[in-house]
This record gives sequence, structure tokens and C-alpha cells, in this order.
Amino acid sequence: MTPQADPKQLIEHARRNGYAVGAYNMHNEETTEALVWAAERAQSPIFLQVGRAIIPHMGVRRAFEMTRRVAERSNAKYVIHLDHGSWDEVLEAVRLGFSSVMYDGAHLPFEENIATTRRLVEIAHAYGIPVEAELGKIPDAGESVNWEDYYTDVEEARRFVAETGIDYLAISVGIVHGVIPGIPQAPISIQRIREIKAATGIPLVLHGASGLSDREIQEARAAGIHKFNADTDLRHAFRAGLEAVFAQGDRQLEEAMAEGRSRMIEATMMKMRQYGCAGAAPLAKAA
Ligand SMILES: [Zn+2]
Repeated sequence: MTPQADPKQLIEHARRNGYAVGAYNMHNEETTEALVWAAERAQSPIFLQVGRAIIPHMGVRRAFEMTRRVAERSNAKYVIHLDHGSWDEVLEAVRLGFSSVMYDGAHLPFEENIATTRRLVEIAHAYGIPVEAELGKIPDAGESVNWEDYYTDVEEARRFVAETGIDYLAISVGIVHGVIPGIPQAPISIQRIREIKAATGIPLVLHGASGLSDREIQEARAAGIHKFNADTDLRHAFRAGLEAVFAQGDRQLEEAMAEGRSRMIEATMMKMRQYGCAGAAPLAKAA
């Protein structure tokens, strides 16, 4: 039985060695296996994320228990992370045994977001659990936006981190949640990443990393991003596997899901190489 790794240690190892760790959403047993098996094969640390879509589908507890069951019987170096949790969901995740949580107070006025996040940080830290938060607005794919309005403000980031005590900060620098195939994303602002990094001093996180080019990933890593959240590309890989099998006519669901799983393993391993975390699991162990 492999227990969860220490997320702070994983991120710190990534920071010291200039790579980033990937965080990917699980959606069912097969996608959880795809992520865990990719981590084993690539010898990569991994954040297994319970994301927004699965909570109305099966609830935080079932999603956590499924993820833990699959991960525990592997040799992967993993942590189970709650993505975009509400107040209640973060508390539930802390009780259940997640080793990392993200609280999303973006709907609150800034001062209230600081106060609420700080209270959750106090609770989570009492259990040894690090907290991620997001600042700046991240639009959904397809929205047309004036990017300057969406970027994380450097001064707000400095205050937010100093006053809440969060461990990692997710920022908005030109990325979107979700990706629409065929529509290129706006280029991300590497300069803004550097400025936020200098102002906050903590590891930064980029959500919506599916739409980024190789070069942007490299530059973002060098500028201070040490966790990338990517879901869309992996979901598309799984779906392409299902579609390829069903394109041949009526087939067993198991055959389709096995093909989806194997394509998702390949897509996940590709991300791990891009983020520089492939091969890092044994090294992070020694840290
Ligand atoms: Zn996000």
C-alpha cells in the first residue's frame, strides 16, 4: 500500500530543480487508472485531482475513495488534491484525508476572500495540509475578453499571499479553463508570471494548461510555475479512444474504455515529459 506523498515536498523539489508537477482530473475508475499508471511508467510525481465536474456526479467522498483505492495499490508518487473547492468541500476533503486542497473564493469581494481563505488555511495547516488559491479571473474557453482585466494583479497577489498564508497561488496570465479545438489561445504573459513570483515568493500554479505550446510551458516553468493543471487534452485522448472503438460498430464498453485508458496514459506521459517531471519521482523521494 503506497500512501500519499507530501505535496509540499514534491513542489519544493520541483522548484529547486526547475520543473513542474502536473495535476490532472480523474473522472471514473479507468481515467484514475490512466493517471496512476502513467505516473508509474514515467516515474513521475502526480497530483490526482478531484475536480468540479465529478462532484455533482459522485460526490467528494466517493471520488476520493476511488482515487485512493487505485493509487494505493500502485507504486506511484501521488497526492490527492481537491480542485476549486467551496468552503464545505474543503472541510470535507480535510476530514476525508486529501493531502492537498484548493479553495476557490473568487466569488467573494477581495477582503472577504482574504479572510475566508485565511481561516481555511489555519484549519488545513493544523492537519498538515497545504492550500492552493486562485487570484485573477480565468475565463472559459470561447469567451472574448480584454486580457488586461483578467490578469492577476501583482499587488493584490502580494497582499493575498502575505495575509492568507496559502502555500501555492494559481494565477491568471492569459489562460482559459477548457480548450476549444482549433481556436488558438492568447499568448500567456511570462512577464506577469515573473512579477507575481517576485512579489509573492511562493510556487505558482497555472490552470488550463492544456492550451499551451511547448515553448510557453518551458518559459512558464522557468518563470516560476511549478504546478500545471491540465484536463482537457487528457479527456479528449480518452474520448478519442472510445470513439475509435465505437466507429467499428457496436462493441463492448470495456473494450472502448480500455482503448480510452491506454490513449490517456500516452497523453498523460506526454504532459509529464513537457512539464519536466518524468523521471523525477525517485529523486523527489530522496529529497
Ligand atoms: Zn482554475
